[in-house]
Amino acid sequence: MAKDYYAVLGVEKNATDEELKKAYRKLAIKYHPDKNPGDKTAEEKFKELGEAYEVLSDPQKRAAYDQYGADAFDPRKRSGFGGGGAGFQDPFDIFSQVFGGGAGGSIFDEIFGGMHNRRNSSGPQRGNDMRYDLTITFEEAALGCEKELNVRKATTCSQCNGTGLAPGASMKSCPDCGGRGQVKVGSGWISMVQTCQKCAGTGRIPEKPCSACRGTGRGTQMSKVTIKIPPGVDTGTRLRSSGNGEAGLRGGPAGDLYVFLNVKPHDLFERDGDDLICEMPIPFVTAALGGELEAPTLQGKKRIVIPEGTQSGTVFRLRGMGVKNVHGHGTGDLHVRVIVEVPRHLDTAQKEKLKEFAQLCKQDVNPMSQGFLERIKNWLSGRE
Ligand SMILES: [Zn+2]
Ligand SMILES: [Zn+2]
Repeated sequence: MAKDYYAVLGVEKNATDEELKKAYRKLAIKYHPDKNPGDKTAEEKFKELGEAYEVLSDPQKRAAYDQYGADAFDPRKRSGFGGGGAGFQDPFDIFSQVFGGGAGGSIFDEIFGGMHNRRNSSGPQRGNDMRYDLTITFEEAALGCEKELNVRKATTCSQCNGTGLAPGASMKSCPDCGGRGQVKVGSGWISMVQTCQKCAGTGRIPEKPCSACRGTGRGTQMSKVTIKIPPGVDTGTRLRSSGNGEAGLRGGPAGDLYVFLNVKPHDLFERDGDDLICEMPIPFVTAALGGELEAPTLQGKKRIVIPEGTQSGTVFRLRGMGVKNVHGHGTGDLHVRVIVEVPRHLDTAQKEKLKEFAQLCKQDVNPMSQGFLERIKNWLSGRE
């Protein structure tokens, strides 16, 4: 049965690189053979962790894994991923909401499915998938945006329409392999059969190759791809733009374009899933007397009421002022965590006032400190 690498590491499918690293480190320490001498289960688990982390920590391998599962790394089952493994459902595919309509890969996968699994086929071949790394701002990720990408990709040669043939020419049998698509290399009792280099295993080459693409049937071209980024994406989110990868060969469908998102950190906010966290310093007089302050939100400033006697670390929750869930499950909250700022660099007059204030204070103005002293006393008397 195929392993679920995410489950092995105990992380969510959309785990960030940092989360993966943390989870791996924690479990690797736990199951390390040095810590579990002679324990076969721990040893197996340790190996499995390494395998899962190796794949998921590599963005390219992770994308392949997400698309094709562990089979992508099984040489017996690999059908040249990137060249298009057919019929697999992409488990993290928010494509349908994002790009809407268009010829989805799945239909083509069904039609051509049998074909790209066959090596050395001379029939239609699906184009390679492509990867595009895109960095967006925190606000763009939280609120959604539209981006135009300049993608350099392999396209069908416009002069020969991808046939690789010069005008009027036709295909002929490959002289190197005699049309078999395979050649023998080596001599005597050590000989191997290899795919013919000249015809790439098709057994046929152009009689006269197209001058523009030298017979490959391909060209490269910069093209603009517009993608809609839904609100709520985060670093590590992958978007699939169907059919915007490399052109197919011999009439095969184009591959897909995978956009890997990287979100810039924000000066004021931190993301925790769909929630936002903002640390806000407040003057200690406001904390003691209470008052109103303006807190930043993604939608602009918002007044919040600070009650009398607010302690450092108190969190004020602003409902629905977080980030919209990328799968449409509601909206997160904004947590404003206040840090009471103790004044520094006081002048003589200010210090005098504070000393006066201290003298006015009875014990009950600092119940926390008072309680703590009590606890120390109790602890010390209990030890004797
Ligand atoms: Zn050949
Ligand atoms: Zn051409």
